[in-house]
Amino acid sequence: MPIPTYHYDPAARRYSTDKGRILSQKEIRQALDTVLEKSASRMEKLTKDFVSTKDFPQWAASMVDEIRVVNTQAFALANGGIKNLSQSDLGRLGNQTKEQLKTFRELYLDLKNDRKPIDGRLPQWAKLYATTRTFDYENERVKGDKESGMLEGMRVLGGSKEPCGTCPPKADKWLPIEHEDLVLGGDECSVGCNCSILTR
Ligand SMILES: [Zn+2]
Repeated sequence: MPIPTYHYDPAARRYSTDKGRILSQKEIRQALDTVLEKSASRMEKLTKDFVSTKDFPQWAASMVDEIRVVNTQAFALANGGIKNLSQSDLGRLGNQTKEQLKTFRELYLDLKNDRKPIDGRLPQWAKLYATTRTFDYENERVKGDKESGMLEGMRVLGGSKEPCGTCPPKADKWLPIEHEDLVLGGDECSVGCNCSILTR
C-alpha cells in the first residue's frame, strides 16, 4: 500500500509528498487502481487454483484474507490512511467488510452445495471483490469531503478501460456534492463502471 510514504492533511483532506507537493485526486485514484489490480490478480490466481484443486478451506481462508485487506486499503485511502481512522470510521469499515464477507460466504455455499458450477468463470468473478472497491472508495471519500465542507462534485468517466452505460450523461459537470448522480455503483455498466468523482 503506497500511502505510508505520503502525508495527509485532515483539514484539507489532501495527500502530499515528502517534498510538499499536493497529490491530485486523480493521482490518488490511480494509486488505488494499482493496489486493486494487484489484489484482483491475486484473487484470480487463488481462484484458478481452487478451480483445479477444489480445496474449499484453503480457498476460503485466503480469499477472506484478501477481501479484508483490500477493503481496508480502499477505505483507509478514502480517509487519510489507517492512522487517521476515527472510531466511527472503523465502525463503518467493519460494516463494509462484513457485507463483502457475507457475499463471499453466499458464493461459497452456492458452490459447496452445487447451486453454482466451479468453472472457468469463477476466477473472473473473484476479481470483482477487489475491482469494485473503487465504489466504496469514491463514495466514502465524497461523504467525508461533504462533511468537511466541500460543495461540489464532478463525475469523470474512466477513459477507454470499460464502457460506461448510463454514466456519460452524468459526467463532466460540477453538481452539488449531495447529488445522486455522484453516487457510484448503481449504473448500467454495473461492476464494470470505472468512473471517479472529483470534489471541490
Ligand atoms: Zn461508469
